[in-house]
Order: sequence, then structure tokens, then C-alpha cells
Amino acid sequence: MKDIDKNIKTNTEEEISAALAQIRQRISAAEQRFKRDPNSVQLLAVSKTKPVAAIQAAIDAGQSCFAENYLQEAVEKIMYFNNPQLIWHFIGSIQSNKTRDIAQHFHWVHTVDRIKIARRLSEQRPNHLPPLNICLQINISDEDSKSGIAPEELKQLAADCSSLTNIKIRGLMAMPAQDSDFARQRAPFRQLRLLFTELQSSYPELDTLSMGTTNDLEAAIAEGATIVRIGTAIFGARNYQ
Ligand SMILES: *Cc1c(COP(=O)(O)O)cnc(C)c1O
Repeated sequence: MKDIDKNIKTNTEEEISAALAQIRQRISAAEQRFKRDPNSVQLLAVSKTKPVAAIQAAIDAGQSCFAENYLQEAVEKIMYFNNPQLIWHFIGSIQSNKTRDIAQHFHWVHTVDRIKIARRLSEQRPNHLPPLNICLQINISDEDSKSGIAPEELKQLAADCSSLTNIKIRGLMAMPAQDSDFARQRAPFRQLRLLFTELQSSYPELDTLSMGTTNDLEAAIAEGATIVRIGTAIFGARNYQ
């Protein structure tokens, strides 16, 4: 397995173990502070660009859910571990000619933003596997970003996806523009939560709000995140996103 990030900053095994404990502490403190149920927020470890040794250190420290952005790198890692205890989430942008590998190897996809992709994922999901869990990605504040649908497009995309048999819509995902101010961090997360609550009136089974990263996880938890996606705070800095 190549270490694709020739990066001197990846945390050591000891640092990863300590960082995970610290992040779990941050999550439970935020759950308490914002009156969320204990353990209602799941920690997803974003291991993109990081070597398998770093992932192994996280596994040894009790982490079982991992997220990856780059498909080839991700599939190599998933096959390297070949461990049915691990849950793999795809959070990168999806090219339509790459859906088969995603449908075969992952448990979750957070970045579905067009019906064509959803249809291919459903068709290509192997029949012996349970339906692929998906989140619809909303472009909530990041005007420059090409990924995610506009809020106005959500109802139609959800309706189109809901008829597909081998995928299961679980909720919404967003990656707002970075902001250092807590109140300003909360605004797009609140907007996503309101969209989610509205969608739940038609689809009461929806249970997932995937929002919040290293810099804004408290704001996301305050606004109802059920999954936070944390990379830097666990594994160290990256040379690229
Ligand atoms: C990289 C990435 C993350 C993790 O961000 P950190 O700031 O390293 O915690 C979360 N979500 C998505 C979609 C990402 O691409």
C-alpha cells in the first residue's frame, strides 16, 4: 500500500489514540451543552490521504467507522483491511463511471446529488448486500462549490431516489464554507436541519444529518448533527483536501 500523502504531519499511533479520546470528549461535551442525547452523535473518522498504519492505530483505539474521498485509494484500503467489522463511508465527489466500485465496496455514500448517480448506485449494488445507505448532499452556503443540490431541488431528488430499491435514503449532508465564528458556523447547519425536518414529514424514516468537521463540530452538534466527519483532529494535517 502506497502512502499517497508524503506528508510528515500524519499523527503517530500514540497521537491518534489520544486524539480520538479528545474528539470523543469534545463530542460528548457538545451533546451535553446543547441538550442532545448522550451518544446521539456518531464519529466518522475521515482517513483520506492517510496511510493504513494510521487507520490501524484508530482501529486499535476502538474506531470502526471510516470515510474516504478518493475512490482508488479507498478501495485499496478497504481490501487491505478486509474486515467486516469496519464500516466505510464514501464522502468524495462521484463520477458516474465510478459508481460500480462505490456500490460494491461501501456501506454509505454521503455525496449523492443527482438522480443519474443514485440510479447507477442502486442498479450496481450487489444483490447479496443490504441496500446502500445514502445521504443527499446540499450546497448550503458554499456558492463556489460545484457539489450538492440547491435546497429547492431537494424534494424532487428525494422523490426520485425513494423508488430505487437497492439504496436507502438516510438523510442529508453538507459541507459549508469554513468560518471561525460560532454563530456564523451555526447558520448553514440550522438551514440544513430545517430542510431535514421538513423532508422528514414526508419520509419519517430519515435519521441522519451528516454535518460538522474538525473546525465546526460543536456548531453542527448544536444544530442536530447525527454524524460528524473528522479528519484533521484525528490523523493530523493533510497536504491537500
Ligand atoms: C476532508 C473532509 C472532511 C474532514 O475535514 P477535517 O477538517 O479534516 O476534519 C469532512 N467532510 C468532507 C466531505 C471532507 O472532504
